[in-house]
Amino acid sequence: MFKFIIGLEIHLELKTKTKMFCFCENKLDLSHPNSNICPVCTGQPGALPVVNRLALEQAISLGLSLNSRVAEKFKFDRKNYFYPDLPKGYQISQYDHPIIAGGYLDIDLSNERRKIRLNRIHLEEDTAKLSHSGDNTLIDFNRSGIPLVEIVTEPDLKSPEEAKIFLQELQLIARYLNISDADMEKGQMRCDVNVNISFDKDEREIKTPITEIKNLNSFKAVERALGFEANRQYEEYIAGGEIVRRQGKITVGWDENKEKIIVQRIKEGITDYRYFPEPDIPFFDSTVDNFININNLRSSLPELPCIRRERFERSYDLSKEEAKILTSQKIMADFTEHVVSELKAWLISLETVEDSEQEIWTKHRSKLLKLVSSWIINRLFYLFQTHHENFENLKITPENFAEFIILIYENKVSGTMAQKLLEEMFITGADVDKIIQSEDFKRVDNTTEIENIVQKVIDKNAEMVKAYQNGRINVLQFLIGQAMKDSKDRADPKLLKQIFEAKISVKYIEQ
Ligand SMILES: [Zn+2]
Repeated sequence: MFKFIIGLEIHLELKTKTKMFCFCENKLDLSHPNSNICPVCTGQPGALPVVNRLALEQAISLGLSLNSRVAEKFKFDRKNYFYPDLPKGYQISQYDHPIIAGGYLDIDLSNERRKIRLNRIHLEEDTAKLSHSGDNTLIDFNRSGIPLVEIVTEPDLKSPEEAKIFLQELQLIARYLNISDADMEKGQMRCDVNVNISFDKDEREIKTPITEIKNLNSFKAVERALGFEANRQYEEYIAGGEIVRRQGKITVGWDENKEKIIVQRIKEGITDYRYFPEPDIPFFDSTVDNFININNLRSSLPELPCIRRERFERSYDLSKEEAKILTSQKIMADFTEHVVSELKAWLISLETVEDSEQEIWTKHRSKLLKLVSSWIINRLFYLFQTHHENFENLKITPENFAEFIILIYENKVSGTMAQKLLEEMFITGADVDKIIQSEDFKRVDNTTEIENIVQKVIDKNAEMVKAYQNGRINVLQFLIGQAMKDSKDRADPKLLKQIFEAKISVKYIEQ
């Protein structure tokens, strides 16, 4: 029917110590409005901006991660418009000489990898926050002056899903670089979407005028709003509406609750902002000033998510999906690698005369790696969910987690017991050795004790025992299960089975 043409403009709130042009803390205290302000970020006459070096470095790190060119020369400009959230009557931004130019980000679709080109990345300051109550509007300047990077893509995205994948990958990179928490719901990552469509009509190609959609605060909203707007454009064009004659782009909003596009205002043309150079900030020329060491920034970049994903998949025998989950947070990927290296060290410490370190690892790796990935992805994630916790607060150390995996690997605990053990480690952060010695977890492998447990189960389940003795062998599993439960999962499963068989098989064998 039609093809999407989508470009994105993304704002990321940077994680600096202070604001973009003043020494106020970069901290959003929403409970105390106007508590984190100064003459600069409230636009008092005569106040002068000072550029935040860390913000420059973070923008450059982002550019280097996105295959962009770092400009040798760049400057700041005033973007003029009149609105109450902007105390100076202009926003300090970058116009014709941004700090970063070009670049691209590869995104992985289900059957191909696509290169999405970037136009530019520039720095600017955030505006104040308005809140409306009745006839009044209140202004909180705490947000005013918080450093933002704006990333502008070329119109290379071809579907709402691609837009979502692009944003998720960008979010992940920002988090790996630790330059922004990039949480869309908290407004740390904001996205404006430009969309139009092309289609064939009467043997000619039609391209509709561009719409900019604002107020998108989740990946889902981006995806859904794009779908709705493209359909709206198509239907309006086919019906011969205003869109057929329109020049220039319009701005619309997205109402998440009603799932509706709301046409708000006609966008001002780019010249309406009357950009001109910010006279209070000098032109930056790195060839002369040498104020930022780009090579240092380049060499301190972390391994990027896409590279780490591929490495995890390759060297840890993971599926694409498993590698994606384990690298979806840098802290989790670091944790996983640490656990694996602990396991390697443990294997090597085992006394084996004939094998080299490499041979030992090759022999055991497959099963160990499978245990690590499945216990993190299935059980640890489950615990995070049920305890409303996240990886940052994880009390289990990689060393301890590795010891836990070894217990399972050596069949020293049953599956159910392992789950309990992990939960205890999760809650208390205690060493696995310590927990396993405690009353609740202590292994029952004393024959007399197990015989007692077994006898009780037999007494309680005479019918079942009879059924077993009459040839329904499957019943044994049920009986073992009951005994396991009675021992609070602490009984040695092998011994339990042996004693059961010895006690109840007699009659069956006699027949
Ligand atoms: Zn300030």
